[in-house]
Amino acid sequence: METIYSYTLQGLENVLAEYGQKPYRAKQIFSWLYRKHVLSFAEMTDLPAALIDQLSERFTIMPLRMIEKQVAKDGTAKYLFELQDGSSVETVLMHFNFGESVCVTTQIGCSMGCRFCASGLLKKQRDLSAGEIVAQIMYIQRELDEQDTRVNNVVVMGTGEPFDNYDNVLDFCSIINSDHGLAVGARHITISTCGLVPGIDRFAEGHYQYNLAISLHAPNNELRSSLMPVNKAYPIEELMSALKRYSTDNHRKITFEYILIKGVNDSDRDAVELAELIRGMNAYVNLIPYNEVEENPFRTSDEKTSLHFYDVLMKHGVKATLRSKHGDDIDAACGQLRARHERNRNGG
Ligand code: SAH
Repeated sequence: METIYSYTLQGLENVLAEYGQKPYRAKQIFSWLYRKHVLSFAEMTDLPAALIDQLSERFTIMPLRMIEKQVAKDGTAKYLFELQDGSSVETVLMHFNFGESVCVTTQIGCSMGCRFCASGLLKKQRDLSAGEIVAQIMYIQRELDEQDTRVNNVVVMGTGEPFDNYDNVLDFCSIINSDHGLAVGARHITISTCGLVPGIDRFAEGHYQYNLAISLHAPNNELRSSLMPVNKAYPIEELMSALKRYSTDNHRKITFEYILIKGVNDSDRDAVELAELIRGMNAYVNLIPYNEVEENPFRTSDEKTSLHFYDVLMKHGVKATLRSKHGDDIDAACGQLRARHERNRNGG
């Protein structure tokens, strides 16, 4: 059965119209789902009994079952959830001084094939529905209810390529952003893409207030193509033109993510080349320590090299941050927890 979490407010109004119900019913349902966090239609006591029956016959609410949870010393928690079809997804909760941040998964597996990433070890099997993404937030929010805190920041940076599941991801954003629901501020929602140019163009035309982050990881085509096959389809020049269009039309700052991999993309020359590529854009670079993955040979840059890389960017007039690691002592790299789970399940 389909989860009702997949419906935007407008979508729900359309469903309700089929049952001869007024649009305000959708707001009532949103309030039960996203303000009171109920998990059954029977609890929606201000709805007519007949509508409760109709909804129960057609929809489920929570499509996830938690099968594992790892908590790191810094409080970062990684959840492994099972979906109704038996496939599994990972979601991460991070505690920051600005609040609780959740990193959601958008696809089962991923077909982008980035060499350094654990998610790509399992090719894409299917897209998640909007509701399956919303449910990751709601499951965790229900846990946070007990501590009287709320999810106030969301990053679409888990397994999967969001712009390869564009409609569902944008519906997901609309649902959690709705004032009638969780009301996560648009500027507290970040979508991260490996650089699918048609998706960036569509996103630019939508004039959304969500943040856009780009996984760059290399300053030139040769290196980027060797790390990220997507660069062969959408090389850096095309990516940069799309981003400039987006940034000018929307007056929005872009975040470039750059993982530092020892001896691969962390040289002085790489830093200078990166600075030249980005200088003048309304953007900054988020330098991220590489999370080592057992299955591949890439290693984390040492601290001195990372700091130097950061200095070079700053000296060349490019703003950057050097991110600290989260959840170091758990399987925190994208796809690591799930990859291990699948291995154990397959007895390997
Ligand atoms: N497909 C999207 C979102 C998912 S990946 C994208 O590419 O942006 C989220 C981020 O984690 C990306 O920047 C990705 O390159 C990065 N990443 C993947 N594996 C990593 C690892 N082992 N260590 C650190 N970052 C990693």
